[in-house]
Amino acid sequence: MNKVFYRTLEGIEESPQNFTVKSIKKIKEELYMLLEGSFFKKNNLNSKKILLKPNLVRPFIDKLPAVCTDPRLIIALSELLIDCGARIKLGDNPGFGLSCRQAYSDSRTEPYLKKTGVEFCFFDEEEFIQKKPDNPLIFKEIYIAKEALENDIIINIPKMKTHILTMVSLGIKNLLGLIPDRQRLLFHRTDINAKITDILQVVKPSLTIVDGILAMEGQSPLHGIIRDDLPMILSGEDVVAVDAITSYLMGFEPYELTFLCLASRLGLGENDISRITIIGESIEERRRFFKRAVLSSSGRFQKINVVEMGACQGCLSALRHALDRLEFENHLQNIPMQTVYTGIPMPGHYPGISGDNVWCFGNCSHSLVFNHDSTEPIKAKFIPGCAPHIFDFYRAIKESFPVS
Ligand code: SF4
Repeated sequence: MNKVFYRTLEGIEESPQNFTVKSIKKIKEELYMLLEGSFFKKNNLNSKKILLKPNLVRPFIDKLPAVCTDPRLIIALSELLIDCGARIKLGDNPGFGLSCRQAYSDSRTEPYLKKTGVEFCFFDEEEFIQKKPDNPLIFKEIYIAKEALENDIIINIPKMKTHILTMVSLGIKNLLGLIPDRQRLLFHRTDINAKITDILQVVKPSLTIVDGILAMEGQSPLHGIIRDDLPMILSGEDVVAVDAITSYLMGFEPYELTFLCLASRLGLGENDISRITIIGESIEERRRFFKRAVLSSSGRFQKINVVEMGACQGCLSALRHALDRLEFENHLQNIPMQTVYTGIPMPGHYPGISGDNVWCFGNCSHSLVFNHDSTEPIKAKFIPGCAPHIFDFYRAIKESFPVS
């Protein structure tokens, strides 16, 4: 029977933006109580090499403190494991143009961790080793950061948050930070679920600890709303079971999550919550219903008229991400009206495109640029990619309409 342990946290004062040893000590005590009956009992950690894999995707701690793993949790866990005699490395690849060095520096952990002797691994500067999933869904070969493979134990410490593409971002999704950008940028569409399941086939964390001290709902992973009404931490050896219970606590049913269905079908863990033993309080009493991320941009933004022509999740999520970010930065208020076409038009039904402020977003919309009924010169600006990266459109709008 798979076990998932959880604790609700009371009396955590301070915040990820502004903390002292006081809240680190409190979180360390809570972590000890979470792990003492299971992980610590089963493992002699003396001299063990342990890699901690947090989520450091974009540490905008001042503005959005729930995007990444709480620095206090990373520090408290490192200290706890060092107290047990373990040697600790911290590793991630935030990807998409943010270097590991910058992410560590922004994570607010460095001043504490350097003193404790934790070693930082810069996955984006290091070697990746080829691995082959037994039952490949998408990747016949996956490249995994060498540093992640050279440890006795990997402890995965994801943030508890919703996600515009995978619905939730928890333990399995957090494994994306183990692969290089050249593979990470591929299959970032509906098939992202198969991609992260393939990664789980080649790297199974020994333990997953979900950081729900502050959680995030809505337009996550980057622009959601903080949930601070039920601080909690969860742990377990089966990352599928941990994700299933955490997503249930967030108001999802595990069968709604494609990556959990795929992982359980491949025998990588338990997705059925009736077959998971929960050590903690009643999950029914603790269950909350997180706002889900909205994928569509149609009709949502006053200055951006989005025409969705059968686009898949890849383009829809990349565009919505970009627009959420532009709105978050108040960059959409003073620009002229824009029209963005995305997806592939119904054959034989090409909308005529005209005007100055027209964009075609994603490779599928490419056919629009060459198939239109108008004899006017085509003025649409094209954002290529399948899917384009979120920052492509974001940057293009900022360059086209700089703030004076
Ligand atoms: S270009 Fe087409 S297939 Fe590729 S992500 Fe966009 S809509 Fe999906």
